[in-house]
Amino acid sequence: AGGAGVARSSFGIAEERRFAAALPVHRERRFQAWVQVSMGCNSKCAYCIVPAVRGREQSRRPGDIVAEVTRLAADGVKEVTLLGQNVNSWGRDLRPGIETEFGELLRACDAVEGIERIRFTSPHPKDFREPVIAAIAECVAVCEHVHLPLQSGSSRILKAMRRTYDPERYLRLAAKLRETIPDLALGTDVIVGFPGETEEDFGETLALVEAVRFDSAYTFIYSPRGGTEAATMADQVPDLVKHERLERLVDVVQRIAAERNAERVGGIEEVLVEGASRTDSTVLRGRTRRNCTVNFAGAAAPGELVDVLIEASSSTTLRGAQRTAVAA
Ligand code: SF4
Repeated sequence: AGGAGVARSSFGIAEERRFAAALPVHRERRFQAWVQVSMGCNSKCAYCIVPAVRGREQSRRPGDIVAEVTRLAADGVKEVTLLGQNVNSWGRDLRPGIETEFGELLRACDAVEGIERIRFTSPHPKDFREPVIAAIAECVAVCEHVHLPLQSGSSRILKAMRRTYDPERYLRLAAKLRETIPDLALGTDVIVGFPGETEEDFGETLALVEAVRFDSAYTFIYSPRGGTEAATMADQVPDLVKHERLERLVDVVQRIAAERNAERVGGIEEVLVEGASRTDSTVLRGRTRRNCTVNFAGAAAPGELVDVLIEASSSTTLRGAQRTAVAA
């Protein structure tokens, strides 16, 4: 549902309406896998080319998805990320034959033995319903991390983007998610410099980012994409203004993320080990359930789940030491 979510998707060829299951399996690491649950999108975001190239949303059948997750688990996969342009509208096109909604799909994947972590990307704020929130809160394997693309904090710009929610609705949803899912990390995507964005609109985006206090955010400068509605809009924002706004947004995002991460210091995080740190090969690297990178001293193999005591933090990473089991 977000620009970044789309860009991060690496499955398939735009013109082909085939599912990832029919394509070579995408596995960066033997213990992590992406599972495509749908392709295409029924939304009409003014800046996005996906609906034009991928067509309307087409969901994979729940039985096929769960069978793939089961196969992956048998093959040693511990973490799956369910992937779709708008994951939380998954399944609506299968009705009336199949009535399963995304929350039930999360529960079915949670029941697969061997799957320790479930993530999903990207949900659209307009389709985040109660059953999905309850499933995230109640399923042991579903991680306490939701990436919820905001794009703008101005109701005028959100309307021009055709996002179909306003800032108040987004704020209510973010509050509901935090209230229902203990220890939730919220991430987002924000676009600056959408056509017609005034200084006042941008100020509303900054205010909303301050209000929600995101744990992480991908920030983008709007650039016109041929074939989209927004590319032909009048009032394109000058490049200099876009860059200046991006810098101000990044400052706010980083300050808040650093504050949020600092709150983790002194606590224990469950970390899925990915390998050696990129900057220091004597240290291990992994990810918390809240999707934060941790560099830590310890001895563990990639794919292991270990407890790490967090000793320091920055806006993007945590640092710590593996807790070793103490004999009784
Ligand atoms: S929800 Fe909007 S941004 Fe996301 S894929 Fe659909 S049209 Fe594009």
